[in-house]
Amino acid sequence: MIELYGEEKATQIKNKLSNSLKGYIHTKERNKKISESKKGKKRPQWVIDKLRNTMLKNGFGIGKKNNNWKGGITDLFYLITESRFNDAWKYKIKKRDKVCAICGSKKRLQVHHLRNLATLIIENKINKDNWRDFRNVLFDINNGVLLCYDHHNNPYTDSLHQVKGRKKTTKEDFYVYKYEIQNKCSV
Ligand SMILES: [Zn+2]
Ligand SMILES: [Zn+2]
Repeated sequence: MIELYGEEKATQIKNKLSNSLKGYIHTKERNKKISESKKGKKRPQWVIDKLRNTMLKNGFGIGKKNNNWKGGITDLFYLITESRFNDAWKYKIKKRDKVCAICGSKKRLQVHHLRNLATLIIENKINKDNWRDFRNVLFDINNGVLLCYDHHNNPYTDSLHQVKGRKKTTKEDFYVYKYEIQNKCSV
């Protein structure tokens, strides 16, 4: 069936099309820029897997817009955790705490988010365009604590993430974990 439009309607449609095309080209160019800036900085496979699992566990990758997790939220995690703000955040916490909050060790120290990053992102509706406006939330030194590898991430010890889960750990998780470990030790 052929529909005939008046000239006004035709112009409207033409504008609409050209606007959406502009948006499309803009996104393409931006993605190209991002991927070019990352050339030579290839992420190791385990990082990709880790990020992917984080996305899936936190409900990303569900819905039309998030089909392409690689180009979506992963880039956001990458932008945040690879930023100089994150380096500064970790540096300040290391300088403040100096030792593992559980055992006092000075070896293999890592910074743990008390409230996990995914929750902060969701709660504040943080995205690739606005994340810099949320620096006070994302890089709050009160939201970080220094832990040794064995108490933070080690899959072969009773580390925090081994006991409380890899993702979505809360502030409470940390304090309960600390209590549990220190009580076990004192017995
Ligand atoms: Zn420790
Ligand atoms: Zn952690």
